[in-house]
Amino acid sequence: MEWRKCTLTNQWYLVGAKDIEMNNVKFDNCPFCPGGEYSNAYKIDEINNGNDHVVCIPNPQKSLIVEEKIKRVGIGFFDMMNNIGADEIIMETQHEHKPFSQFSEEHLALVFKMFARRIDDLKNDDRFRHVIAYRNQSEYTGSPFQHPFSRIMAFPMVPKIIDNELFEARKHFVRKDRCLFCDIIAEEIRTRVRIVVENKEFVAFCPYASRFPYEVWVAPVHHSSSFEKDMQGNILSKLAEIMSMLLPKVEKVASSYFLALHTSPNEKSAAFKNHQWETLQDDYHWHIEITPKYLFADYIERRSGYIANSVLPEKAAEEMRS
Ligand SMILES: [Zn+2]
Ligand SMILES: [Zn+2]
Ligand SMILES: [Zn+2]
Repeated sequence: MEWRKCTLTNQWYLVGAKDIEMNNVKFDNCPFCPGGEYSNAYKIDEINNGNDHVVCIPNPQKSLIVEEKIKRVGIGFFDMMNNIGADEIIMETQHEHKPFSQFSEEHLALVFKMFARRIDDLKNDDRFRHVIAYRNQSEYTGSPFQHPFSRIMAFPMVPKIIDNELFEARKHFVRKDRCLFCDIIAEEIRTRVRIVVENKEFVAFCPYASRFPYEVWVAPVHHSSSFEKDMQGNILSKLAEIMSMLLPKVEKVASSYFLALHTSPNEKSAAFKNHQWETLQDDYHWHIEITPKYLFADYIERRSGYIANSVLPEKAAEEMRS
């Protein structure tokens, strides 16, 4: 398998990858629970607060390799890279199978602390331009992957979705000398119609132009470009607090959803040394995007570019607030 660049979309795809969610791997018992196949895997990192135990392991079904040097090759007209990258699984509990909304605030803080530790560590590797963290909350259908886990991945390129945000944020900053996200957040706080929950440090709102019904973004009210640098003391506990207020509201309207962390690209990467992202710390603002799964809408979007959302974000926020 390898990274191939689509010249038309300027986007890299991993071709020949393994089944990304491991849906085709069959187990008799949960592989992450004590005694399970992956329970004794090499631990990259672990955190324990006495009650809760969060462990990071290499993804046993990974498609990316961390051990090799990066090889960039021209194949005639096309661009190719070897399958460089990091793929890690965060096992969020030791043996309990429960949805994210049922985690205590302390437990949520532990999971976010692990996100920050792994992102920070992976950003020491200058081959990686970006690190993503995501969580795929599925309905509890009896699959072996009921075990609560999230995924951390590092790539030798910035994913298109982040690249687009960086481009627009920088454009806004050049024109107005202000952070685009800070402006969006100020407007949401001024109008209040799309706010779902808030606390002293964070606000959760349905974005003005939501792609999906009940889409919610969580962002710090203070300006901060990088999640992993922001996750200290009070800020970490305030994130856990707002997530513990928000998640039951999300799970009331959607039993399965996707949670993605959007943080700044790796300032230590080779691309950054070329001053590609000079004003990054001032113009980018980390946030979490929660998108309930509407597969049909997702398929249409991917195939045609037509995005249609049947629930007004103001109505979605009102329903989730109640
Ligand atoms: Zn399990
Ligand atoms: Zn900002
Ligand atoms: Zn984003």
